[in-house]
Amino acid sequence: MDQSKTVALTKQLLRDYYEFGNIVDLRRLFTDDVVAFGIKSESYKKGPKAVEHFLRQMHRAMEACRINKMSCVAKVVDDGVTVRANVVYSTNERMRNMQQVLVMFRETPVGWMICGLHFQRDVRHELTYQMVSSQMLNRGEVGDGSMDEVMDMVSSYVNCAYVQYRPDTQLPMDYFSDELWRMLGYGSGGEFSASFQGYLEHIVHEQDLGPSRDEIRRQLFKGDSYQVEYRLRRHDGTYIWCMECGRYVLDKETGAGTFNAVVTNLSPLKQTHASFLYNLRHDRLTNLFNKKTFCRQTAEIIADHPDTEFEIMRFNIARFKVINDLFGEETGDKLLKYVAHFLKSIRLDACVYGRLYADNFILCYPTKGEVRQHLIHSLQMLAESFALDYRIDFYFGVYTIKDTTLSVTTMLDRAAMGLARAAHNGLVVCGEYDDDMRECIVNEQVIVNNMKSSLRRDEFLVYLQPKYELKTERIVGAEALVRWLHPQLGFISPARFIPIFEQNGFIYQLDKYVWEKTCQLLKDDIDHGRPVLPISINVSRIDLYSPNIVRVFESLVDRYEIPPKLLELELTESAYVENPQQIIEIAKELQAKGFPILMDDFGSGYSSLNMLKDMPVDILKIDLKFLSDKQGEDHGRGGNIMTSVVRMAKWLDVPVIAEGVETQAQVDFLRTIGCECVQGFFYSKPVPIEVYEDLVAKDHQLMEPRSGNNRA
Ligand code: C2E
Ligand code: CA
Ligand code: CA
Repeated sequence: MDQSKTVALTKQLLRDYYEFGNIVDLRRLFTDDVVAFGIKSESYKKGPKAVEHFLRQMHRAMEACRINKMSCVAKVVDDGVTVRANVVYSTNERMRNMQQVLVMFRETPVGWMICGLHFQRDVRHELTYQMVSSQMLNRGEVGDGSMDEVMDMVSSYVNCAYVQYRPDTQLPMDYFSDELWRMLGYGSGGEFSASFQGYLEHIVHEQDLGPSRDEIRRQLFKGDSYQVEYRLRRHDGTYIWCMECGRYVLDKETGAGTFNAVVTNLSPLKQTHASFLYNLRHDRLTNLFNKKTFCRQTAEIIADHPDTEFEIMRFNIARFKVINDLFGEETGDKLLKYVAHFLKSIRLDACVYGRLYADNFILCYPTKGEVRQHLIHSLQMLAESFALDYRIDFYFGVYTIKDTTLSVTTMLDRAAMGLARAAHNGLVVCGEYDDDMRECIVNEQVIVNNMKSSLRRDEFLVYLQPKYELKTERIVGAEALVRWLHPQLGFISPARFIPIFEQNGFIYQLDKYVWEKTCQLLKDDIDHGRPVLPISINVSRIDLYSPNIVRVFESLVDRYEIPPKLLELELTESAYVENPQQIIEIAKELQAKGFPILMDDFGSGYSSLNMLKDMPVDILKIDLKFLSDKQGEDHGRGGNIMTSVVRMAKWLDVPVIAEGVETQAQVDFLRTIGCECVQGFFYSKPVPIEVYEDLVAKDHQLMEPRSGNNRA
């Protein structure tokens, strides 16, 4: 960052702030650089609450400048708060590099002192820090502050001292503040003076004295302020690195020149620098490498071992969110640290590991022997040893590095594809990347490229899958399921495109189309005096987040003049899990407007049975495939769950529809446990609308032969 610019901005900031007390205008100052600021002495005097308030206001003011984080070290001292420094992080896109500026300002007997410490990457991408501004401003240059208060504040900066001395005479210092002797470990000012008679030169490290004096001369030759670093001897004989920032002031009357300077103890700052670096490279929670560091280390290791084949592994914890929800975030954090602890204990040459985010961990290790199996096995054992009354599983994804020219980020992406395969499948613990997956991604692109035009050209069709009452085996309604028949690409399964549309948001447009078609159909049935049965539509999680969603459904049934009870809404269980409160609110509202709420895929994720009582649910849909490990297996665990769910639902007075019913055995079993309705290939696959209408008509004729077929 341009040094003079920072100084100017800081000056202006202080002026604005002190003179007008206004921070809204800060936005102007945060255009493309980082500026630092300090807290008004009045607010720190008012206590931590006032400081907090100030910071919050400040934060709001800065949001517009995309400064995403700020913090302040505030420490209560007696009645007030000592504000040591304010730190602003900027992630301004134009700046690219993360920057941090730390500014301290204080009033000295001659004026204001502003020191800015600026962290920046150097050409080798290492972080360095540098002082960007150190200015002595004359009193008149900034607004008035109460001198006493400000002096209090100055003394609270234990690591900074104000000094005044003559440059060209071998005289003791004219003035030094108490912080100087405190900083150097003396018990009192008297003790300090006695030990070196007040000559600053006597305590500067002999190797630094000459060079620093030369440097001051050199700088003063060009301007009126200077900044040098040297070591000062402490009382115990050890040295600390200090920085002297000062100005040469000429007394017009006497003609004597004086150095007015602030001596700052740099060691805490150097520590800050070290911890800043550490935080930048590590993940706070687990102390593992973060993504950036992982990538850099991995790239280095791969380059250093050209003859070794490596693998990138990613893994995450299945249903981690559930663990957080059920047992609290503290437990979730504990589990993450537990995993991190294990990773740190791996004794493997050329192995790098880190945490990507949340429950996503990453590893790079040489492909040899049984390393992968061993890691997977160890982690599984680890999961079992974690004391939690809940089953912990991991999903793994692996990419064997065949192409070392790829960036590590791309390699991680590939491992992620493997992971997604495992997580999707459920039975495979570890998915490995192969080039087919890439093809998958390419296909995904084809889907995305075609979706909009297909919607315009009516290439999406609504199919209906009838639902049957088990007792009578009559059709009691249907579920609307979308089908995509592309003239060139052919039939594309919803299981393939729905997840993609959910990701890119297109699902809302498509769903509205399906809802519209469904309402048209219901309206048509009513108008033609055909038997009218309710149809359920799928409401994606994404749909629920769109504002006015309740209004959308309302206006839909208004427009088509159909009673809302005919339009049943299927909400998947996982939608509830993600954001229970919000979804429950929306579902309640919809229910109150008369739309029946179906909970789809109950049992697929988790929502404990007792959560059901808080959720607005009119009908529960249970998919048989989620209940047993093997499809079609009705007995054992799956059967038991089904039995108890149906029993529980009955107790709560919620009817159950069993989905995915494929065999007679399943039908028989469902009958014995008292399940009301079924939907599945055993009775009917999803069929085009005309076919469905025929089925309903026939069903109607069969049961009520005299009512006739009213179809036009
Ligand atoms: P879903 O809502 O759980 O829909 C039921 C799925 O199970 C349908 O798959 C249906 O064809 C299938 N199915 C029905 N009976 C059986 C059976 O006996 N055996 C087996 N193996 N499967 C059966 P489909 O049509 O492929 O849809 C898959 C998923 O895509 C749906 O799961 C739903 O989540 C989503 N989806 C489908 N249409 C829409 C839509 O219009 N909007 C939204 N948002 N999602 C949709
Ligand atoms: Ca459904
Ligand atoms: Ca379902």
